[in-house]
Amino acid sequence: MPAHILSLLILGILLILSSRRRLKVLGIPSGRLISLDTSRLIPVTEPLYDPDLSLTGRPDYLVQHGRSRIPVEVKSGRAPQRPHRSHVLQLAAYCHLVETTTGKRPAHGILKYADSAYKIQYTHSLQKDLFQILETIRKAQDSSPSRSHNSPNKCRACGYLSSCDQSLV
Ligand code: SF4
Repeated sequence: MPAHILSLLILGILLILSSRRRLKVLGIPSGRLISLDTSRLIPVTEPLYDPDLSLTGRPDYLVQHGRSRIPVEVKSGRAPQRPHRSHVLQLAAYCHLVETTTGKRPAHGILKYADSAYKIQYTHSLQKDLFQILETIRKAQDSSPSRSHNSPNKCRACGYLSSCDQSLV
């Protein structure tokens, strides 16, 4: 599997392993609880891709907000007292991908939990934190494995086929 496909997966793993204290120092925003009109959600069917950062990811939904689009990431559990740092940085990655693919920077993203939703400001500080972590991931990926199978059928069914440079089809 190519390195860029792994980016967001590894992002989640790294962030779970990171300490709460360190991320507080990085300035991860705590977010604000909002009510979300789910009738306005637009499902995202294709991954978003930034070729400069070799970053791909797919938020669950987008919602139109003025002239920009806001990514919405859905989590199945109840809302925590403050959003998990891994969720916030995953959302920041989606904000970046939305900006890259639409040319318009979203002012915020939304983390939707089962019982409520958090509005997370996409600040320049959060973006900087995201880039620092992606750089850390990139260095770690220097030793990442290549495609782990020889099955064209797996590639045909893969959601990342259009942006994969190791596809068998
Ligand atoms: S297209 Fe094939 S090689 Fe590429 S990520 Fe998907 S399954 Fe892996």
